Amino acid sequence: MSENYEPMWKELGLDLEAHNALLNVLGQGYTDIYLAQENRPEGMAYFDFVMSEVHGLRIKELMEEKKQGRKIIGSYCVFVPEEIALAANATLVGLCSGADFAVEEVEKHLPRNTCALIKSALGFKLGRVCPYLESADMVVGENTCDGKKKAYETMGGMMDNLYVMDLPQMKSGLGRQLLRAEYDRFKQAVEELTGVQITVESLKAAIATVNAKRSALHRLYRLRKADPAPISGLDALLANQVSFYDNPARFTESVNKICDELEERIQESRGVAKPAAPRILVSGCPMAVPNWKLPWIVETAGAVIVGEESCVGERGTRNLTDDSGDTVDALMDAVTDRYFKVDCAIFTPNTDRLDHIVEMAEAYGADGVIHYGLQFCQPYLMESIPVEKALEEKGMPCLRIDTDYGMEDAGQLKTRVQAFIEQISD
Ligand code: SF4
Ligand code: SF4
Repeated sequence: MSENYEPMWKELGLDLEAHNALLNVLGQGYTDIYLAQENRPEGMAYFDFVMSEVHGLRIKELMEEKKQGRKIIGSYCVFVPEEIALAANATLVGLCSGADFAVEEVEKHLPRNTCALIKSALGFKLGRVCPYLESADMVVGENTCDGKKKAYETMGGMMDNLYVMDLPQMKSGLGRQLLRAEYDRFKQAVEELTGVQITVESLKAAIATVNAKRSALHRLYRLRKADPAPISGLDALLANQVSFYDNPARFTESVNKICDELEERIQESRGVAKPAAPRILVSGCPMAVPNWKLPWIVETAGAVIVGEESCVGERGTRNLTDDSGDTVDALMDAVTDRYFKVDCAIFTPNTDRLDHIVEMAEAYGADGVIHYGLQFCQPYLMESIPVEKALEEKGMPCLRIDTDYGMEDAGQLKTRVQAFIEQISD
């Protein structure tokens, strides 16, 4: 890190010793997994820098924004519209939950058989190790799966700024009405927080900013369709992960820059993996920083990940918001329509997701799909069975993985992934 941030972390109330331990683990994991890759695009240097400063410079920037009167909103889910936060002069950041922390403490509050993502979110709060969480003026939770819903009741008692958003479970007319009403309520809460009234102009500008960020990611996704793949799945996942923290305009610029480089690589047929490396689509639960275990296993086994059907990936970014409305009401409708298309496994029925996975597998020229489910995550684990069936009908091999954030099963996963790669290489 470029300077000593300890005074800032102290001011935020972090547990410095625990935080240092977390940073060490993060740094080591990053070196072993990311920096050990060969043949990376030069543009990844930007993302390496962001990751090296993820608890440093970026937090300093947020603290400066706060000094200038801007509010920071932390969010646990892709259903929280960044457009609304930006339009009211707030910054939205994702609250990562990709590593086990303070597990013993967490298990005093939540059952052991809770998914790793929820446990991690609570562990970061209990352990006081997340500067994003501690600098947020408002933390937004959402009633998606039952685990999250109940965990927010527990978390609500640990912070005084938790705002809970309700979400529909069915893509019906009533479901859409609920989402719209909840976004109106959120808009009001954000306006009260910031003291800024959202206008047509500010909402249009916010939509443009977020659309530009998503369009840059779409460009990156399109380039990954090339054979040989010009970028590793690990690096593309990192870009997706960084999109939750970075300043949106700067992020857009950096992704477009790396896309320019990838276009050159494609022209020269320069791939990132060995020629004829099997192409894998990963589908399932979101992978927050620093949850890199599965992509690392897949890519060190000789395959290349070409797409992610995930909230940290295409599920979270694929749709843009229509900005043609000329009233706040019309634009809020457009925001609702955009997010209502997110096909999280909490929805029932959820055939759109099955169609999307099949469509992605074909579009990206995948040789196989790995469905990634976190242990105890009922929505995704249950849905992995119909996903496998839908893929089987198309003759697309699918491997269902059920894991957590620990490394205990790494050897066993490696064996299963290697066998799958051999099977699809024939
Ligand atoms: S999987 Fe569902 S609950 Fe989790 S971030 Fe995505 S949309 Fe939100
Ligand atoms: S949807 Fe699954 S992975 Fe996401 S929070 Fe709920 S149980 Fe965990």
